[in-house]
Amino acid sequence: MANRDGVIWYDGKMVPWRDANVHVLTHTLHYGVGVFEGLRAYQTAQGPAIFRLQEHTDRLFNSAHIFMMKIPFDKATLIQAQCDVVKQNNLESGYIRPIVFYGSEAMGLSAKTLSVHVAIAAWPWGTYLGTNSLEEGIRVKTASFSRHHVNTNMCRAKSVSTYANSILAHQEVANNGYDEALLLDVDGYVAEGSGENIFIIKQNKLYTPDLTSCLEGITRASVIELAAEIGIPLIEKRITRDEIYCADEAFFTGTAAEITPIRELDNRTIGSGKRGPITARLQTMFFDCVKGKAQNHMDWLSFV
Ligand code: PMP
Repeated sequence: MANRDGVIWYDGKMVPWRDANVHVLTHTLHYGVGVFEGLRAYQTAQGPAIFRLQEHTDRLFNSAHIFMMKIPFDKATLIQAQCDVVKQNNLESGYIRPIVFYGSEAMGLSAKTLSVHVAIAAWPWGTYLGTNSLEEGIRVKTASFSRHHVNTNMCRAKSVSTYANSILAHQEVANNGYDEALLLDVDGYVAEGSGENIFIIKQNKLYTPDLTSCLEGITRASVIELAAEIGIPLIEKRITRDEIYCADEAFFTGTAAEITPIRELDNRTIGSGKRGPITARLQTMFFDCVKGKAQNHMDWLSFV
């Protein structure tokens, strides 16, 4: 990733990709306090557009607030910067990664004297969970690692430290040949994927875990709105693993994963074992939105 052409927005300036470096004593590298976002830009008839830029930027600031990191830029500056990195890297579509991290002024756990830095990179990124995953669905395994207890880490924050737990879960199931991990909360109820929210469909109703132990996903919120538009009721509640085994359809949502059908959990086939009809319909609606083909959701797009 480091050795490529292009530019990265770094503390207010565009710098050549290869020069966007940090010192090895950067506090975030040692103690894992940092917050970030992941956004996608899509190609539309009117040029590249970033999906739900305002909401992602709001979440970045909320994540920083939770960890008491003071971002030294305002939202308007970072919104403009995210558009600029897409434009200046000549991307028609791609993934955008803003990250807020501490400087290297001091070691030890107090962050009081540390500077706060912001970098924003953008690059082309195709389907996250494999080439055919959006059509064929993926095989998921419940991980032995639990999602963080609400008093262990902060689920409302998209923080660097959350992802050590995600990576433990993901590597465990990937090493056993599965595509993605499902994490349960500390009480054994379904929380989310390693980098996705989860939904199931049973008898034409949509179910998803409440937000106690999962990230408040922006794709999740978008799908909830789209489902309402086609009259599919949503129930947010505690969900057990076996409810997923017996669901008619299941899918993950996330900026990287988009809407990825789940065809199997813990070696149990879900529904027909193929992408279900409601999942397919929601996918079509979602891709129409991100590609600027849904007139009623043009406000979800920021043209760069
Ligand atoms: N949960 C986790 C743990 C994630 O990393 C992500 C990806 N950001 C999501 C859920 C989905 O969030 P969003 O739809 O906002 O990308």
